[in-house]
Amino acid sequence: MDFIPVNEPLLDGNEKKYLNQCIDTGWISSEGNFVKQFEQMMAAKCDRKYGIAVSNGSVAIDAAIAALGITKGDEVIMPTFTIISCAAAIVRAGALPILIDADPITWNMDVNQIESKITPRAKAIMIVHIYGLPVDVDPILELADKYGLFIIEDAAEMHGQTYKDRPCGSFGDISTFSFYPNKHITTGEGGMIVTNDPKLAERCQSLRNLCFQPHKRFVHEELGWNMRMSNLQAALGVAQLERLDEFVKRKRQMGKIYTKLLTDITTIQLPLAKTDYAENIYWVYGLILNDEVPFDTETAMKKLSEYKIGTRPFFWCMHEQPVFQKMGLFEKVSCPVAEKLARRGFYVPSGLALTEEQIGQVSTNLREVLL
Ligand SMILES: *Cc1c(COP(=O)(O)O)cnc(C)c1O
Repeated sequence: MDFIPVNEPLLDGNEKKYLNQCIDTGWISSEGNFVKQFEQMMAAKCDRKYGIAVSNGSVAIDAAIAALGITKGDEVIMPTFTIISCAAAIVRAGALPILIDADPITWNMDVNQIESKITPRAKAIMIVHIYGLPVDVDPILELADKYGLFIIEDAAEMHGQTYKDRPCGSFGDISTFSFYPNKHITTGEGGMIVTNDPKLAERCQSLRNLCFQPHKRFVHEELGWNMRMSNLQAALGVAQLERLDEFVKRKRQMGKIYTKLLTDITTIQLPLAKTDYAENIYWVYGLILNDEVPFDTETAMKKLSEYKIGTRPFFWCMHEQPVFQKMGLFEKVSCPVAEKLARRGFYVPSGLALTEEQIGQVSTNLREVLL
């Protein structure tokens, strides 16, 4: 039996055709038309006016933080259970992440814990939708209104997902996406910022392009980055976005098959199929080992790799990151739910190219590992 990778993308639509167009016309840099087309298509997909394509999802967050003017002395409320990119952008800007514990069932930030953490220094709340279910957004939008806070939405795992029938990527001041190959749609490496605010859009466009000035190109009033997306990446993006609805359907179907095959195993917690406001999109199919399982995730993952099955651990909490501890950050933070998710959670192969037969194989072997 062949190795089943934790992720494999599907690239069998118009990807080759559009890439060939780039090569045939010589338009391969960020100046090409696919970039503009991809930006418009992504913005439309999430009911936003502007899309700004960038080189990955992490720098999209850097640009969003910078565009909002978040700086030294500011606080940004965010989940502790997420990828480093979210906290790194805040810390690099000189601001302080204020960390919120996770909900044990949805694995998203526990919305009820936010209000008590808002201080006069709070400037923004960063919403990060984790693994497949969106955060309960409405109460957060209300808090942002009440306290005059910006909202940054990291929708890197949520292309095509909705919250109460509104698209993820449409919430708050500014939203970001990633197109890394394990996301619902991919450009190899890539990211996008979307917003309705023309000033924020203009700031992000400038920040991604070294803050060149239109009239005095090599005279800089501000420091930006080179975060430009190439036309080659955008060509992939357009081809992938054409199929997003199909991909979302397929992911949901894969999640349902896993759940059906695993539901009787009492020693693991499976992803929640739906909430009042959304149906799981299963960006990745995560599992939590219950307390009675006598070994840890590392052991479970190692055993699965002996069956030639790829897995990944869950995120490691921000307050337990050595890099931040060395900076003296988060000394008194404790988030027991997220700490447990990080220690007991991992995910199984979830990429779009996964076949039903492979899902069956993973489930059979998982059962052997756990029972
Ligand atoms: C993947 C991801 C990112 C980072 O995107 P890259 O393109 O890999 O830099 C940011 N936030 C979340 C929630 C992600 O899942």
